[in-house]
Amino acid sequence: MIKVCASGGVPSVIDDPNHQEFTVRELRTIVEVAGLAERGVAAHCHGKAGIMAAPEAGVLTIEHGSHLDDEACAAMSEAGSTSTRPRRRSSVSTELSARIRSRTPGA
Ligand SMILES: [Zn+2]
Repeated sequence: MIKVCASGGVPSVIDDPNHQEFTVRELRTIVEVAGLAERGVAAHCHGKAGIMAAPEAGVLTIEHGSHLDDEACAAMSEAGSTSTRPRRRSSVSTELSARIRSRTPGA
């Protein structure tokens, strides 16, 4: 499995978890090249833009998924992707989500 950062990281000072790090086209290329080595792709995604791009590109799993919502779940289901997001939010993930929301204009 190859993991890519489809969104910025929450504790990172150089990027934003709401920002999409790769276009769908770029992610598709990553998935294609990983497939040449018989590997799947997992995507680190916090913000929704990254979450929505990953399954569209053929990414197998969404890691974290802090802003996973019904629309994103439907897109993942349609694409056959899964998520490693815990079923119950821990205090850590709740804190991360609050931090992401604080960086989202209009949230
Ligand atoms: Zn990650």
